[in-house]
Amino acid sequence: MPNPLFPFDNRYAQLDGLSVPWQPAKVPAPRWLRFNHALAEDLGLNTSALDSDEGLVVLAGNQVPDGAQPVAQAYAGHQFGGFSPQLGDGRALLLGEIIDPQGQRRDIAFKGSGRTPFSRGGDGKAAVGPVLREYLISEAMHALGIPTTRTLAAIATGETISRERALPGAILTRVAASHIRVGTFQFFAARRDTERLRVLADHAIGRHDPDLLKMAEPGERYLAFLDAVAARQAKLIALWMSVGFIHGVMNTDNMTVSGETIDYGPCAFLEAYDPETVFSSIDSHGRYAFGNQPGIAQWNLTRLAEALLPLIDDDSDLAVIKATQVIERFPDRFSQHWLNLHRAKLGLRADGADDEADRTLANDLLQLMHEHRIDFTLGFRRLSAVLRGQPDDLRTLWGDDTAALGAWLGRWQARVPASGEAATELADRMDATNPVYIPRNHLVENALDSATDAGDLKPFERLLSIVSDPYTERSADALAALPGTPEQTRGYRTFCGT
Ligand code: AMP
Ligand code: MG
Repeated sequence: MPNPLFPFDNRYAQLDGLSVPWQPAKVPAPRWLRFNHALAEDLGLNTSALDSDEGLVVLAGNQVPDGAQPVAQAYAGHQFGGFSPQLGDGRALLLGEIIDPQGQRRDIAFKGSGRTPFSRGGDGKAAVGPVLREYLISEAMHALGIPTTRTLAAIATGETISRERALPGAILTRVAASHIRVGTFQFFAARRDTERLRVLADHAIGRHDPDLLKMAEPGERYLAFLDAVAARQAKLIALWMSVGFIHGVMNTDNMTVSGETIDYGPCAFLEAYDPETVFSSIDSHGRYAFGNQPGIAQWNLTRLAEALLPLIDDDSDLAVIKATQVIERFPDRFSQHWLNLHRAKLGLRADGADDEADRTLANDLLQLMHEHRIDFTLGFRRLSAVLRGQPDDLRTLWGDDTAALGAWLGRWQARVPASGEAATELADRMDATNPVYIPRNHLVENALDSATDAGDLKPFERLLSIVSDPYTERSADALAALPGTPEQTRGYRTFCGT
């Protein structure tokens, strides 16, 4: 037998009642938008077979590959605070799982593969713009060292799909540590289906926290799982906050238990620093504003805790006490990660240092950046030049407001080597943690518009290559490091990509 395209080893589809077997819809005229060679190689896949006409037919959903068992996964979720007991894969399908060369189980899934029993009113489709947006931003996140689902392929389907206007259709192949969400647990908890809840929890633990399976007392195991999810999310959200990422739709169905970022609908990066920044057109109350993300993560974890209560202890009062202790640790956990990451951004050594003093130093810079509307990314990036004795780029960024910065710089410079080799080395270390390139909103929009309206993928390719190497400054990419002009930035809005 020839090598299959994917060496599937499926578990989730076997779990009774957690998903519905389903087939992808056929599409008329598949055409490559992008194949992710580097990811395919990391996954140990047959890259040349996938990046071929045979691969195109499969990745468009026109032929189910050998060994796949496509299913639509059931999940529920709190959307903007309101509970929907049934959401589920309305336009996605889990094709199956593979084991990567590191021994990690990974989901291979479609997004935009047609209607399923969970589609409700939707058409089950995705458009070229949102598919390329997910590709671009998830690759940028990966390059920034942030856990994320990734994109193996983006295919134009040759279909026209109907949104506010007619758009070219596309299908995305997503790779994830799993697609198990907080909302997956809520689905079974809401139905008081404790048996399936347990099956789901054991599967999730087997995938993400296999060491916990050794715990003798099952209740302890599920509490430890909640704890592990909370630990991963505390780290993930701190990472988002350290690069100015705004997820935009942190509904409980868009929060994984793996700790990977998922669902790149209305996400965008901050430019001028303001914790109240919201880009999503439907987030009218700012629930998912930049600065609210840690609080929302804790809120979502509380929903996970509620769903897990029947597994944690038969005595429901005791279960609540135990779960509450885990949830209450979240702010401290988050803060510790936040401090570590911001120390690195500022080049501050942790050993022997005063946590509170360093936290204040970081927050004071953010406060100044807020007051003076300084670009978050460049505001940090250009600090290193000061250590190299070249403060002009930083001065230019602050314009007439350098006086405000001066006092802060004095405090900072008292904490870092002022000059010489130690200062240069530190500057290099800071440059390896403060990116120079993020997916700038105006460049993202331009890339997606060109692909959608003119079928021109060159701006997308260019931007993808820039954000895939975010720390190395390149003179040819100087413009891509700059924030949008006020005209480009004013009133910027993102959409859920449905
Ligand atoms: P999202 O906003 O992408 O997190 O999706 C929320 C819910 O809406 C999920 O259950 C999706 O499967 C479903 N959904 C989103 N877009 C579509 C669509 N075009 N067709 C069917 N279901 C959709
Ligand atoms: Mg979603």
